[in-house]
Amino acid sequence: MINGLRNRLADSFSASELSALLALEGKEKEQLFEYAAEIKKREIGNKVYFRGLLEYANACSKDCYYCGIRKSNTGIQRYQMEKEEVLKAAQYAYENDFASLVIQSGERSDSRFVDQIEELLKDLKKIGNGTLGITLSCGEQTKETYQRWYAAGAHRYLLRIEASNEKLYHRIHPQNDKHNFNKRIQSIYHLKEVGFQTGTGVMIGLPFQTLDDLANDLLFFKAMDIDMVGMGPYIEHQETPLYQYSSQILPLKDRLDLSLKMVALLRIIMPKINIAATTAMQTIDPQGREKAIAIGANVIMPNLTPLKYRDDYLLYNNKIGLDETFETQKKDLEANIQRIDHSIGYGEWGDSKHYKEKKRN
Ligand code: SF4
Repeated sequence: MINGLRNRLADSFSASELSALLALEGKEKEQLFEYAAEIKKREIGNKVYFRGLLEYANACSKDCYYCGIRKSNTGIQRYQMEKEEVLKAAQYAYENDFASLVIQSGERSDSRFVDQIEELLKDLKKIGNGTLGITLSCGEQTKETYQRWYAAGAHRYLLRIEASNEKLYHRIHPQNDKHNFNKRIQSIYHLKEVGFQTGTGVMIGLPFQTLDDLANDLLFFKAMDIDMVGMGPYIEHQETPLYQYSSQILPLKDRLDLSLKMVALLRIIMPKINIAATTAMQTIDPQGREKAIAIGANVIMPNLTPLKYRDDYLLYNNKIGLDETFETQKKDLEANIQRIDHSIGYGEWGDSKHYKEKKRN
């Protein structure tokens, strides 16, 4: 099976083939990883880009069944970072050559929040004369809001579909207009139309999810012609409705393993996109992110959120790095990346090559 891979065009894989590849174990799985690593080196090079992550606010108008900051969880303190705190963290990112920031928040679409993000973007673009690249991950918004935020300086946007199978999507979200599958897909199209470098992603190892679902997630990324993907293992949070199914899902280490296979296959079928090595991977295995980088991922998002807020941005249980600043991890992270024969693209935006080539054509 693996030998046949080398002669295949990136867009010739069927769902059943991808599903079979996701089931590989042992030597064949290692060969799959080696092939994905080869493709990455050839197509985009062995470089990792850092994006400084700011968990800007944890208030959310939604109630996704898997998420620790869902509206109905009353056990957390809701916060929003002060503008000065955001600017200070952004200045730190700039001075440490990160070149890019990710502003992430719960989903709010009230005009106050929309205005605040717009103002924030304008202020952030003053740092280093506009040289900080900005990714937003603030959920579904109207096309007009996306246009305003794009005009204010954001140029990448991550909106995870979480599960591209509509039936599965409905099992992990409440059934109401706030959690509408088609609306979410429409939002991804809007982001692309506005001009954002557009990202999406899924959770891996969810209750009720099959390998066929994951294979179809990969084909969904391809069909949507997505520029970047952030996907990782599903980790449960005990204060959520989905927690009741914990005994029915794969052990954590198998969810990580499956996530690594997803990263490798995605690199093979979409060789030039950006793929993030996520914190959920590192939560399961301290070397999880580096393992993902070695076989296909090329983006890491070190958390720059002030420590005082981190306990209240727990999307899942046992999230790592609650008491660690970037300063304390920097040396280890750099050494680990060097060990897997990669360099860090300090000072570079590291935009998706897939997106850049699309724009040129
Ligand atoms: S996943 Fe996002 S939209 Fe859903 S509850 Fe959590 S923060 Fe809100």
